[in-house]
Amino acid sequence: MFGAIEAGGTKFVCSIGDDEHNIGEQISLPTSTPEETMPEVVAFFKPYIDKMKAIGIGSFGPIDIQEDTPTYGHFTNTPKVAWQGFDFVGYVKTELNDIPVAWTTDVNAAAYGELTQSPGNSLVYFTVGTGLGGGAIQNGQFIGGINHAEMGHILIRKHPNDSYEGYCIYHGDCLEGLACGPTIEARYGIKGQDLSEDHEVWDFIAYYLAQAAMITDLTLAPQRIVFGGGVLKQPQLIGKIRSEFERLLKDYRPTPPLDEYIITPILGDNAATIGCLAMAKEIVA
Ligand code: ADP
Ligand code: ZN
Repeated sequence: MFGAIEAGGTKFVCSIGDDEHNIGEQISLPTSTPEETMPEVVAFFKPYIDKMKAIGIGSFGPIDIQEDTPTYGHFTNTPKVAWQGFDFVGYVKTELNDIPVAWTTDVNAAAYGELTQSPGNSLVYFTVGTGLGGGAIQNGQFIGGINHAEMGHILIRKHPNDSYEGYCIYHGDCLEGLACGPTIEARYGIKGQDLSEDHEVWDFIAYYLAQAAMITDLTLAPQRIVFGGGVLKQPQLIGKIRSEFERLLKDYRPTPPLDEYIITPILGDNAATIGCLAMAKEIVA
């Protein structure tokens, strides 16, 4: 048995799974403070402590994932102030008999999950939800030297008809600042799920996500690029991203067929949890 903790900005999903990544028992807890949330996380896993071989954690961030630093396993300067500096990995190991822990970002975990369903050993995953994050795997490893990648904050070209100034508190009109879910309500006062499928905003967001795909294609050339998160629940969006990608890249070089190359998650909302189970299995293999 393995454990999985998908630690998101709004909720924590804790799961038990087996060697084949089948998810068994699962609970969802609101992300409040470490003092409130973490004892409940530990209480969920305690009954399985003798059977669990390892736990995989995919967390919101920024977090420290550099193994040779004293703050490995901690949150760094996360905007969720209550979690700043909290030693997530240390807490889990202390409370659960020093269990082996695999630790990465939530979006890296989702990338790892999708890789179990994908050709080859390289993949990039973007989640477009309350925030916008990107995780990348090259040769089966998460990329990053000084720390994990933060592909949600890349700078992109603005759509000529989009007058919105941007939502990111650091950069204004970076990718997250122009294309994450809350930017839709900030522009029109209406949430994305309540706008029609032919609204102009989908052209803007497709343009921005297509640029993210193009930058990804040109810099990392992964075997697959996945877009998930709440905003991708708009069924027309992935096709628009493919068309914009094609228009922007032109015939510069061939890509795999776009409906296999640029896709929504095969694992749906379970990508990160399955990624955590796969990571946990990997570290004790
Ligand atoms: P989180 O990022 O908090 O884990 P989600 O991935 O569900 O959560 O993303 C939530 C965001 O996605 C919200 O901004 C919401 O308005 C937006 N969203 C949810 N469903 C849709 C939809 N069908 N169409 C467009 N936007 C949506
Ligand atoms: Zn930014």
